[in-house]
Amino acid sequence: MEDLLLVVDPQPTFMELCPDELPVPGAEAVIPVINRILAGPIARAAVTQDWHHPRHASFASQHPGRQPYDQVALAYGPQTLWPDHGVRATPGAAIHPALDQAKVVLVLRKGFRQDIDSYSGFRENDRSTGTGLAEWLRAVGVRRVFIAGITRPYCVDWTAEDAAALGFESWVVTDACARLGPEAALAESKARLAAAGVRFTTAAGLA
Ligand SMILES: [Zn+2]
Repeated sequence: MEDLLLVVDPQPTFMELCPDELPVPGAEAVIPVINRILAGPIARAAVTQDWHHPRHASFASQHPGRQPYDQVALAYGPQTLWPDHGVRATPGAAIHPALDQAKVVLVLRKGFRQDIDSYSGFRENDRSTGTGLAEWLRAVGVRRVFIAGITRPYCVDWTAEDAAALGFESWVVTDACARLGPEAALAESKARLAAAGVRFTTAAGLA
């Protein structure tokens, strides 16, 4: 069985390095944890990269009278609004320079359609537009995916749930993930993932 570490959105835009974007407390601290996993037996890795149009529909700035974290209805359903972040080809959207990319064989940009957000690395938020990641993983023979990065319970958890739904053995590496929001939301997401067949491990478990 081929294993792959999928690193979700390891980008400065989600770190305190970019205080005017979407900083997640402690997010930068997951990079050395991920690097330790990459120094271990795992053979390959892929990275997702949030890569938004400057006027992306998930930005509160594009909805007059709305604030970040408000919920709105977009064409495909409910969407949380965010501060501007992950704007394509900006410094904040780059892959964090400290990430060890030696084993990274795919960088997949997501959320690039102006009108659709994409938390998951597999499917956009309309839940029907694929990113091609599942097909790529199958093409290179990956069966088991370990997921780390930024952030739970959003992009990491949605990616893990989709990995399981699409037939991969899906694991979340809990101490290699950043977290955003209340503990209750994280617990609710964890229960949903467990029911979907997602499993949980730690970086030490991959050493
Ligand atoms: Zn985004």
